[in-house]
Amino acid sequence: MREIQMVDLKAQYESIRPEIDSAIKSVLESTAFIKGPDVKLFEEELQEYMGVSHVISCANGTDALHLAMMVLDLKPGDEVITTDFTFIATIEVVALLGLKPVIVDPEPGTFNISVEEIKKAITSKTKAIVPVHLFGQCADMESIMALAKEHNLLIIEDAAQATGTDYHFKDGTTKKAGTIGHIGTTSFFPSKNLGCYGDGGALYTNDEAIARKLRSIANHGMKVRYHYDNIGVNSRLDTIQAAVLRVKLKHLSRFNEARKKVADAYDKAFANCSSVTIPERATYSSHIFHQYTIKVKDGKRDGLKNFLESKDIPSMVYYPGPLHLQNAYGYLGYKEQDLPVTTSLCKEVLSLPMHPNMEKEQLDYIIHNVLDFFQ
Ligand SMILES: *Cc1c(COP(=O)(O)O)cnc(C)c1O
Repeated sequence: MREIQMVDLKAQYESIRPEIDSAIKSVLESTAFIKGPDVKLFEEELQEYMGVSHVISCANGTDALHLAMMVLDLKPGDEVITTDFTFIATIEVVALLGLKPVIVDPEPGTFNISVEEIKKAITSKTKAIVPVHLFGQCADMESIMALAKEHNLLIIEDAAQATGTDYHFKDGTTKKAGTIGHIGTTSFFPSKNLGCYGDGGALYTNDEAIARKLRSIANHGMKVRYHYDNIGVNSRLDTIQAAVLRVKLKHLSRFNEARKKVADAYDKAFANCSSVTIPERATYSSHIFHQYTIKVKDGKRDGLKNFLESKDIPSMVYYPGPLHLQNAYGYLGYKEQDLPVTTSLCKEVLSLPMHPNMEKEQLDYIIHNVLDFFQ
């Protein structure tokens, strides 16, 4: 049996090697390393896949969030509500721009930001909400958009873990995660569902004026060459990464389907194991399983993790500590008990190996050992 990995990037590369190699080689031959033709072609192809009017590529997913905050003209002291249970990038850019992160608990079942908690956190200073579509499943966007309308708030969706997830509205229509709010952001970090072979990111919007300004800010605030209308940054997706992403985008639906099959097998196997809670699936969202994350009760999580490790099965705790308790954000003044849901999730969650190239033998071995631990 092949060695089990959380994400087997080597197996994935092997499955599409000729296409990837020739895509990279043609960039090398062209030497158009910055703003080469593949960048624009990738943006157009992703636009088509996402069903959105504008895709603006950039250097990574953190920059995408940063650019989104910059383009919306938020002022120091403006409050931005986001979730306690996410990767640090989401609140880091808020703090960097002198805005005030207001951190709220997620729902314990779906792990996504709680609409009830958002409601409690809205003040006269609130300007934006950043829902994160965690682990591959959408937050409750229909309720969040209704709140945005009622309170005149901007919505920036962090869709770094949800490239390809569908949101189902009550009227029967469907949109891709990241294309529902004012701006959506994503990351092409290698282990993301659509990952490149280095760093990369993008923004989505249906607003032409926002798109134009985002392109300018990501390129030093330039409008016409060497004339600067905005204070900008240098944040670009390089051509080699775009070429890799053009190949991988063609396979994304198939890869996401394969992940779902692994998740279905895990769900079925753990359904009757009383110590394990399988991830809740929201009615309004598809799930592309960026992570397959179980909850383990009775303080047995770390024991399970160690047991699996002894069987050469990797697992990861996403995320081991709530953001509201990180030293860097101590100035916000949160206490541990302020966000009890995240605090308890951090003690219970465990993400199991999840990728599109999982072999049946590997999957059976993982399941067998998880169940064996609780026997
Ligand atoms: C990966 C990730 C990011 C950051 O993306 P990078 O490309 O690593 O900068 C932001 N938010 C979430 C939720 C992520 O998972």
